[in-house]
Amino acid sequence: MTTYSFRCEEHGTVDVRRGFGAAPAVAPCPVCGRPMRRVWTAPMVSLAPRAAVEAIDRAERSRTEPEVVTRVPGRPGRTVAPTPAQRRLPRP
Ligand SMILES: [Zn+2]
Repeated sequence: MTTYSFRCEEHGTVDVRRGFGAAPAVAPCPVCGRPMRRVWTAPMVSLAPRAAVEAIDRAERSRTEPEVVTRVPGRPGRTVAPTPAQRRLPRP
């Protein structure tokens, strides 16, 4: 889906979502029904790295839909070998 902008002389700019390349030259105003002419705008193509866009989207989504942890992270049954410094610690 692509967002196309149209301008009603009475109600201003209105965004209309249609399939790519399916924008009509004239669309009816959703408020008054008069024909609106298409307004040409810069394409909203993001040049940001995909990982950054996903991180921003996840941060914005966490405001209203926080991720809930249902289990302890990590693989079950996995043990971590003690470091040499931990091996020297006194045992109870
Ligand atoms: Zn209108």
